[in-house]
Amino acid sequence: MTDRVIPIADVTTRGVPVPSEPLQSPTGPLIDRRGRPLHDLRISVTDRCNFRCTYCMPKEVFDKNYRFLPQAALLTFEEITRLARIFIAHGVRKIRLTGGEPLLRKDLERLIEMLAALTTRDGKPLDLTLTTNGSILHRKAKALVAAGLKRVTVSLDGLDDAVFRRMNDVDFPVTEVLRGIDAAAEAGLAPIKINMVVKRGVNDDQILPMARHFKGSGHIVRFIEYMDVGCSNGWRLNDVVPSAEVIRRIDAELPVYPLEPNYPGEVAERWAYRDGSGEIGVISSVTQAFCRACTRARLSTDGKLYLCLFAQHGYDLRALLRGGAADEQIAAAIAAIWRERDDRYSEIRGAATAGLKKIEMSYIGG
Ligand code: SAM
Ligand code: SF4
Ligand code: SF4
Repeated sequence: MTDRVIPIADVTTRGVPVPSEPLQSPTGPLIDRRGRPLHDLRISVTDRCNFRCTYCMPKEVFDKNYRFLPQAALLTFEEITRLARIFIAHGVRKIRLTGGEPLLRKDLERLIEMLAALTTRDGKPLDLTLTTNGSILHRKAKALVAAGLKRVTVSLDGLDDAVFRRMNDVDFPVTEVLRGIDAAAEAGLAPIKINMVVKRGVNDDQILPMARHFKGSGHIVRFIEYMDVGCSNGWRLNDVVPSAEVIRRIDAELPVYPLEPNYPGEVAERWAYRDGSGEIGVISSVTQAFCRACTRARLSTDGKLYLCLFAQHGYDLRALLRGGAADEQIAAAIAAIWRERDDRYSEIRGAATAGLKKIEMSYIGG
C-alpha cells in the first residue's frame, strides 16, 4: 500500500484551533471526474474490534501479532472535528462513524457531541449516524443519544446463536446484540437499520428468520452482498448470494414490492411488505454496482482520505493537520483530490481488478 503525501505550500500557521463559524473560500460543492458530488463522509474512529467476523477480520490474519495503529497515530477528536467542518464546507451533509468497532473508541460520546454541533452549508443539522456490531450498545445507547446521535445501524448476521457465534468468531451471543437493539430503540434511535452480510452456505439460511423476526418491528433489515473488500477474507464469487435471490426467497413467504429510493443515489434498494408491516433493503455492490451515484469519501483512523471502499491508497490529511496547514489549505487539498476522483471499482470488478492490494475495511471504515 502506498500513501500519498500532500505537499504543503506556504504553511504559515501552526496548531490552528477549531473555529465554530463557517469556513470561507476555497469551499463549495465539489464534483469528481464522473460528475459525482461529495455528500457523505465515513469516519473510521478505530481499527480495532472485539469481533473477528470471518468476512472482515479473519482470525488468521488479525491475530495477536497483527499490528494495529498506535494511539498517537489516531486522529484526535479535535482533528476529526476540524476535518469534518472542512468537508461540510465542501458539501458533506451526512457523517457516519464506523471502524473497526466505533463504540470501542474511548469517550466516543465527546466526539459525537462535537460533531452534532456542526451544521451543513445550508444551516441544517448534520445527518450524524454510526455503524456498530451492537456488542456494547445496551450500555452506551442512552449516552450516545444524549450526546446528539440521531440514528444507528447495527450489524447482525443471523438469529441462530450457533451461526452468529461462528460468524463473529469470538463466540459472542445473539441475545446481547438484540439487547443492544432494544436499548437503542428505547433511547430514541428507532427505526434502526440492521445490516446482515449474507454468505452462501454460511448464514443464508438466516435470511428468512431475520426477515420474520424484524417484520413489524419498525426496524429495517438490509441484506448485504458479501464483498471482496481488503485482501484477507478469501472472497470468492460463489460465496455471494445475489440480492435478486434474497428478494425471491423472502417474497415466496412474505410478499414484497419495490419502493422508490428515499433520495437519488441511495445505496440500499428498498422493498416493502405487501401487508404493510414494514420494509427491508438489499445492498448489491457485487451484482448491481452503484458507483455512478457514489458520493462517499472515507477518512481512515489515522487520517487518510480514501475515495473508494476498494482503494489501494489514501491521501494523508493528518500530515497536513499536524504540519500546521491552515483550513483553507486543507480545503484546497481536498478539493483537488475529489476533482480528480475517477473510482468505480464495483463497475469494473473482474480481471482488471484481480490481485489489487486493497486496504482492509476495518481500517478504512465500512
Ligand atoms: N464494526 C462495526 C459493524 O460491524 O457494524 C462497523 C464497521 S463494519 C466494517 C461496517 C459494515 O461493513 C458492517 O455492517 C459489516 O457487516 C460490513 N462488512 C464488513 N465486511 C464486509 C464484506 N466483506 N462484505 C460486505 N459487508 C461487509
Ligand atoms: Fe468488527 Fe464490524 Fe469487521 Fe465484524 S464487520 S470484524 S464487527 S469491524
Ligand atoms: Fe463507491 Fe467504490 Fe463502492 Fe463504487 S466501488 S460504489 S466508487 S465505494
